[in-house]
Amino acid sequence: AKASGRNCFSYFTPCLQEEALRRQDVANRLRRALVAQQFEAWFQPIIELASGRVVKAEALLRWQHPELGTIAPGDFIAVAEEIGLIGDIGNLVFQQTLDVLEHWPTGQISVNISPRQFISGDCRHWPQELLERQLPASCLAVEITEGLLLDERPLVVNTLLGFHQAGVEVSIDDFGTGYSAMSYLKKFNIDYLKIDRSFIQGLATDNTDRAIAEAIIAMAHKLGMRVIAEGVETPAQLELLREAGCDYVQGYLLARPLPREAFLAFLRQGG
Ligand code: C2E
Ligand code: CA
Ligand code: CA
Ligand code: CA
Repeated sequence: AKASGRNCFSYFTPCLQEEALRRQDVANRLRRALVAQQFEAWFQPIIELASGRVVKAEALLRWQHPELGTIAPGDFIAVAEEIGLIGDIGNLVFQQTLDVLEHWPTGQISVNISPRQFISGDCRHWPQELLERQLPASCLAVEITEGLLLDERPLVVNTLLGFHQAGVEVSIDDFGTGYSAMSYLKKFNIDYLKIDRSFIQGLATDNTDRAIAEAIIAMAHKLGMRVIAEGVETPAQLELLREAGCDYVQGYLLARPLPREAFLAFLRQGG
């Protein structure tokens, strides 16, 4: 028993140590990257189906690593949250979004806020900052996830209400994958539901995905919300979304996330 106990010990310990070391390493790299200004916001166009025009965009974080190239946030956001760096990185995305909005005051850019980032309160001052930059509050939308709406702590509730009162719009990201707490949609005057990419993927081939997407659109419209479909990759998906009365579409079929200059050029060419 003793021997097997020790085996167990020696089997697990190196793994845990390796994992801890890896995380520590990523954490150190992230801190250095922040100082070296290697984080960038990219912008993915969002098209209004009724007009065919680019009226919105989503800001998406990228890490420009000198050796590894462009790194997407899935690989490092969780660590940034754990080490308390997400607030600083989020504010950086917000500042770069404001810079683009100054060139595009008729547009609207949505910024993702992770639950931890929201709870840290680092985004509370965003409406005030829009005001100081003389940008209309409706230039900004924030994308939050369903779970956050269940958090009843005053900081969360007041920040959400603060956004709404200022005129900043609120989107529920990945809608349908979380808690689906419908009653909270009403309580907080949510403006947009974003249908998760997982439902869009099967839209033209899977009857269930199609039924879910159609139901989300119908419900949203009845509750006075508008719908953005994300991850649209094929003309067939686009056509079905048009038929279902979806309001906005976003995805590789229309445009990929673009660095700031490329995004502004895309707008100048008329989207
Ligand atoms: P998300 O908010 O659901 O963002 C949509 C993701 O889908 C983005 O991945 C986008 O590049 C990708 N995408 C867009 N169109 C298509 C398509 O047609 N096909 C496919 N396969 N993918 C598409 P990305 O940029 O890697 O971001 C991943 C996640 O990281 C985001 O998911 C969001 O949750 C988070 N994130 C990104 N930027 C920020 C940020 O500034 N702050 C925070 N807190 N989270 C961020
Ligand atoms: Ca999003
Ligand atoms: Ca999403
Ligand atoms: Ca997501």
